[in-house]
Formats: sequence, structure tokens, C-alpha cells
Amino acid sequence: MSDKQLATIAVRTGIDVDSQYNAVVSPIYLTSTYSFPALGELPQYDYSRSGNPTRNTLADALSDMEGGAGAVVTSCGTSAMNLLVSALLGPNDLLVAPHDCYGGSYRLFNTRAQKGDFKVLFIDQADPDALAAALAQKPTLLWLETPSNPLVRVIDIEAISQQAQAVDCQVAVDNTFLSPLLQQPLSLGADFVVHSTTKYINGHSDVVGGVLIAKQQSAAENLSWWANCIGATGAPFDAYLTLRGLRTLAPRMRMHEENGAAVLAYLQQQPLVGTIYHPSLPTHPGHEIAKRQQRGFGSMMSFEFAGTDPQLQLFVKTLQLFSLAESLGGTESLIAHPASMTHRAMTDEAQRAAGISTSLLRLSVGLEDPRDLIADLTHAFTVAQEAC
Ligand SMILES: *Cc1c(COP(=O)(O)O)cnc(C)c1O
Repeated sequence: MSDKQLATIAVRTGIDVDSQYNAVVSPIYLTSTYSFPALGELPQYDYSRSGNPTRNTLADALSDMEGGAGAVVTSCGTSAMNLLVSALLGPNDLLVAPHDCYGGSYRLFNTRAQKGDFKVLFIDQADPDALAAALAQKPTLLWLETPSNPLVRVIDIEAISQQAQAVDCQVAVDNTFLSPLLQQPLSLGADFVVHSTTKYINGHSDVVGGVLIAKQQSAAENLSWWANCIGATGAPFDAYLTLRGLRTLAPRMRMHEENGAAVLAYLQQQPLVGTIYHPSLPTHPGHEIAKRQQRGFGSMMSFEFAGTDPQLQLFVKTLQLFSLAESLGGTESLIAHPASMTHRAMTDEAQRAAGISTSLLRLSVGLEDPRDLIADLTHAFTVAQEAC
């Protein structure tokens, strides 16, 4: 564990450690294999599926930033989740997950449970009765995603972790929406943190990657063993790019938040905007929890478009600075329609239960000048308004 501030860890991990040429920036180790010093003598690295210096540098940085004992850098966020359930759960184990989790998490947990790999229960984790009933079934793992995708619901990590601990249940938190800069679940009592590093951590929409961080050393070692066993680890080149993105995570998150706040204030004035979902709003049910457990509100938000379907279509089509795309956390602003995009793996019924309507739009506010973002929104709202 490092005693440095998070921005410093992000910038300095793996800097100035090259003993061969004193390169300030570490070289990238693309090698798949490593020479043994002699027959019967194991080198530090033997094969890049099990270990790679570039990937390990990224793992060290992210583990330190989350306050973990160790991390596995995986090929994507989904493989980090798959790694955890593979390592922890057997056919008799129960996984409790939020009914409004990321669509891919829902698909992974649901499909593997249908195959009999483990049991799963999707519940509304903000409902104390549903949570108590689920914990009474003695689950092995409780999955949290806070803030959630796409409705940015906030769950009290500390309170839930205490309840889970009382029944010997481990807690994993998907921290993708905030990054360690704005939330550190391990310090709130969680046992594992997962990120899709594809999002804010890499931050440039040019790598798909993930990480799984463990609070305990023994758990971290077990996960490394499993990652090698099932082949979940990420590529060195991806790790290099992600490390490059991580260097600027702190200033990027600050600007994402600043731009997000500007867009949010603007949206609140718009007639074609219905309910807005963002934890900074005092009306948001998770506002007080977010103030306590987060170091910022993040810049992911969604809102109900208060017009007709054709107006919504026109609005999205007219926007030029919000690309219609899945994913989030990159430098460029994106708009998504969860019902037909990120969450289409859910049945209509599951979408309804999760509160995902067909008029819901999700914004990932990027790092363009906010004046241009607002001008673009204004133009698109005007065009949509005139069409009715
Ligand atoms: C994108 C995402 C994932 C999945 O990560 P991939 O890198 O796409 O596999 C998991 N959780 C959340 C909250 C996400 O946004």
C-alpha cells in the first residue's frame, strides 16, 4: 500500500524504474515468454498469461489507488466479474445482485446461473426488506453497483457491507462510474472492487479492459491463480495504454465533474427534460449517501425525454457533440438510449423492474468546452421542439 495521494500514485507508478537505460517512462513488455536462468530455476516471470511487467505495473497502481492488497488486470470489465464469480462461487453458492445492474453483468450472472454454475437473486438493494430476505438466505457474494447504470442510484456501501459481514457474505462493488478518485469501496467495508477500465480509468475510448482488486492478500493471490487458470488476464499493450490514460485520471475527473455540473444545470431549465437522475440533486434519493461515501458526484447522468418518440429520435440525431454510442468515461461526450442499447440484453419485464423506460437517455459528459456542449444541446432541443 502507498502512503501517497491518489493523483500521485496515478502519475508515478512505474516511473523511473528502468535499470537498463534509466528511461523515465517504463518500456512496454510485449513478450509472451521469458527465459529461465537455468534448468529448474523459476524466473520472476515465465509466461505473459500468468504475469507481465507492464500489466503488473498497472495492477499495482490500481490496487494502491483502491487501497487493496493486490489486483488482477483483465481483458475487460466483464472478464473481471467472471473471474470473481468463477473463483468464489460453486453450484450451491448464492450471488445477490442489484436488479438494475449493468446489462452485461445481468446477462453474465443470469446465464451462468441458468447453467447451474451458481444461484443468483436479483433484488432492489435499496429496499431493506428485500435485502434482509436475501441475506437471510446466506449468500456467498453480494454484488453492488453504485452509482448504478443507467439510473445512477446510490447504495450505502458501508451499511450493506456490515449487514453482509454479519452473515459471512463477501461484498464486491462495481466502481466503474466513479473511479477510485471519487469512491473507495474497500475503505467502506467491501472485499472486492471491479472496474471496467474501458471507461474513466483509461478514459480515451481506445481500450477495452478491466481490473479486479482484493482487500486481502490471500484473496488477491487466489484471484491471480484463477486468472491464469481461466485465461482472464489483459494484454500488455492494453495495459500500457491504460496506464497512460491513468496518468491524467485526476485532472480528467475534475473536468468531467465541472462539465457535468454545467450540463446538469442547463438540463434543469429545459421543457423537453422530465426527471433527471444525478446524485448531486437534493431530490435524488441517494443524495445524502452520495455526499457521505463519494468524493464527488461524477458526471454520469440520465433523464426522461419529455416529448414524443419521433422528437426523441430527432433530438438524438441532431446532436453533433454527443455521439450516439454505448460506453462512457471518455474525453468525448456520448449519449445512449439504454433500453435499446446498453440494456437490450434485459427482457422488457426486467427493464421495467429496473426502471428503464424507452424515454430514458443517458449522458456521458466529456471534456469538450461546456459552452459548445450547451450550444449543441440547445440546437437539438430547438429542432425537436419545432417538430411537434
Ligand atoms: C462497461 C461496464 C462494465 C463491463 O465492462 P467491459 O469492459 O465492457 O467488459 C461493467 N460495469 C459497468 C458499470 C460498466 O459500465
